[in-house]
Amino acid sequence: MPIIGIDDTDSKREMCTTYLTIEIIKNSNLDLIGFPKLVRLNPNIPLKTRGNAAISLVLGRGEGEKTPVGKIGEETVFSYQRHKEERMDIDVMSIIEKFSPRDPDTNPAVIITREPNEERFYWDAVREFVDYKEVLTRVRGEFSSINGEVGVVGANAAVSWPGINATYELIAYLDRDRWSGEHLVDESGSILIEKSFPDTFDSFDFRNNYNAIRPTTKTPVLFGIRGVIPERLMEYKDFIRSEPFSSYITFKTNQGTDDHLLERPIGEVGLYQSAIVRGFVLSAPRWSRGGILTFDIGNDGKRLTAVAMEPTKEFRITLSKLRKGDEVRVYGGVTRAGNINVEKIQVVSLSKVSDIAPPRCPNCKTRMESAGRDGGFRCRKCGTRSKQGEVRTEEREISPGFYEVPVIARRHLARPLKLGVSK
Ligand SMILES: [Zn+2]
Repeated sequence: MPIIGIDDTDSKREMCTTYLTIEIIKNSNLDLIGFPKLVRLNPNIPLKTRGNAAISLVLGRGEGEKTPVGKIGEETVFSYQRHKEERMDIDVMSIIEKFSPRDPDTNPAVIITREPNEERFYWDAVREFVDYKEVLTRVRGEFSSINGEVGVVGANAAVSWPGINATYELIAYLDRDRWSGEHLVDESGSILIEKSFPDTFDSFDFRNNYNAIRPTTKTPVLFGIRGVIPERLMEYKDFIRSEPFSSYITFKTNQGTDDHLLERPIGEVGLYQSAIVRGFVLSAPRWSRGGILTFDIGNDGKRLTAVAMEPTKEFRITLSKLRKGDEVRVYGGVTRAGNINVEKIQVVSLSKVSDIAPPRCPNCKTRMESAGRDGGFRCRKCGTRSKQGEVRTEEREISPGFYEVPVIARRHLARPLKLGVSK
């Protein structure tokens, strides 16, 4: 069974990678075995260094039961659970070349193998900064690439993905002559799906009025609907009012799985890693230019700065309610500056925030004022002095629990709370 893994590292055409699935199925006489897979990689790696999406699919001679997973033109694409081994009957690289612009920034890589590689290659590619040269020496099957070999990381990760935690995305594609320009995808369908079907996620952002099923860049993708039950995505697509599309297919994907996150001690998070770190808020969050909110957390004498950037919108307001001493678990990715970009947070427990305020005068009941340098308090009216202040506890505006960025700011890998907490 040829297992095909493809990484196409041109960030500007990220969504083009998934479209190759359609072209491969169209050109091959073999059947699709299982779902095609869309595998997202460590989102913290700068896009110039490495793409963020890889795909993999298995071809063979299908046997036994078949289920529809898509359509290309008038033809239904079926997926088979069982199959007979077959030799590869197409040249995948020539298909990629046909759909890649002649651009030195494009760095497609293909692996064709009979067996998946070790699972650890997937976990490394989704969580760490991987040295592609190390991966090159461990590839199983045939590897080929254009304009460099960095893409081996994604292609190899895609064929190594165990797929135990998974969601699905049905992606609808435009005909090639219509890829450029504006496309009509009415938001009414996304709104209905977001509201009505708890097995879907990231279709519409109500707070920010954002139709999340349509891509924001020029791409063959018309829309994509994400969910956890693949058969139902086929039904949901009929709710979308859009211009016509020529093909669609359902991918099994690691989107919305939190696979990129690993619990790590604060002192042990490295550059570009994704992590869940547990600690105590060291001081009240502060705002800086550009609407950036930051706060420091610490544990065992180590500290880390947590950051929420402007695109995370109202999530920053929630985070701004944190106070010194709150215990939190911060989910996010470590940036070049050494900070963690927060994508989700668990407020484990709240500290009692209190301060000492001037008491009322025991003599005349007027609110006293600070006596300044000498300490204590003094009544302006009758001159009474007091050492004892009044302990005031701040009314907290946040409760223990989980909080997340809005749909508009969500990374592909991040698990929406709508689907439950993963870790
Ligand atoms: Zn007084």
